[in-house]
Amino acid sequence: MKALAASVVLVAIASLVRAAGGPPVENGIFRPADLVELTSLDPTIRLDIRYATADNFVHRPVYAEARAFLERPAAEALVRVHRTLRKDGYGLLVFDGYRPWAVTKAFWDATPEKKRIFVADPSKGSKHNRGCAVDLTLYDLATGREVDMGGAYDEMSKRSYVTWPGGGEKARAHRDVLRNAMELQGFFVYPWEWWHFDYKDWTEYPILDVPFREIAPTPLQ
Ligand SMILES: [Zn+2]
Repeated sequence: MKALAASVVLVAIASLVRAAGGPPVENGIFRPADLVELTSLDPTIRLDIRYATADNFVHRPVYAEARAFLERPAAEALVRVHRTLRKDGYGLLVFDGYRPWAVTKAFWDATPEKKRIFVADPSKGSKHNRGCAVDLTLYDLATGREVDMGGAYDEMSKRSYVTWPGGGEKARAHRDVLRNAMELQGFFVYPWEWWHFDYKDWTEYPILDVPFREIAPTPLQ
């Protein structure tokens, strides 16, 4: 009876938190968060943090700082991807990593219903909120330029689908290079977005709503 009463109270609290517009309440045991700044692990990983600029699908900056973080095992795996790509003449160019939950909520609210396969439902949270998803592309080590992927980051069209057959041979080859290198290190591509990859252990990490400025700096490796 007592346990039942306690669980009723817990459910009531969870509903209140949801009603107040906060992140979903999750039951479960998670690893402690350990967000690591990617460029601290390897400064040759390049960043183009579009959400810190107005050059994104909501047309305004949603991050105060152009930085990218992942939970430590995912960040270390990403560094391995970056380093194995060197022999093929490529490096990683990161658009986004850990994303505070409030930003996911803002994206959902700004997206028309028929385009919502391209954004995460805030009632479930995004794997970006867990520090276990990364949006990225390749850059050419020789020219420093972003490679042609046959479509743009955050483009809400069929060209973003992994199975999209267009874009030319070169662009499709670039998509394959990125995907193969990522999969070898435990990342899985999201079928609707060639640039989005989830890290295999994402279920072990909690949804966070911590702004970048509150994340402890990572010592340079
Ligand atoms: Zn993403």
